[in-house]
Amino acid sequence: MSENIKLVCPHCNTINQFPAAKLRLTEHTSAEKTVSPNCGSCKEPLLTGAPIEVNSQALNRHIQHSGIPVLVDFWAPWCGPCQSFAPTFTHYARANTSEIRCLKLNTESNQSAGAAHHIRSIPTLALFNGGKEIDRVSGAMNKTQLTQWVTQTLK
Ligand SMILES: [Zn+2]
Repeated sequence: MSENIKLVCPHCNTINQFPAAKLRLTEHTSAEKTVSPNCGSCKEPLLTGAPIEVNSQALNRHIQHSGIPVLVDFWAPWCGPCQSFAPTFTHYARANTSEIRCLKLNTESNQSAGAAHHIRSIPTLALFNGGKEIDRVSGAMNKTQLTQWVTQTLK
């Protein structure tokens, strides 16, 4: 029996379930030729290699129904450190597309989500696993710090 894994579609928010082996296939494919499992509903790729912009509803859906850890960047358009952190997060999402679900939540347009997650300063990076928050860091990090923090936290 093969083990199944769940992911929420970044395009239509359908919860997909598929063999975990498909995810491993993505992992071993080069960046130019990404073989991603497609959504059973809208047929778009489930793994896009980019952070997924979510609203509060989609955020909760990803946290509750992702078979891999979820990393959320809580940010706002007026925040300078958020802007300078954005490329780092984009690179991280591309490099870890099949291992970590990277989401971006705009706290300006989704204030209820910011409040629900007790976001006091931005950027805040929160890491979720199995539907629960396991750690968070406030303030921008560089690529090395981000990689180390996630790896250490998931150990
Ligand atoms: Zn879809």
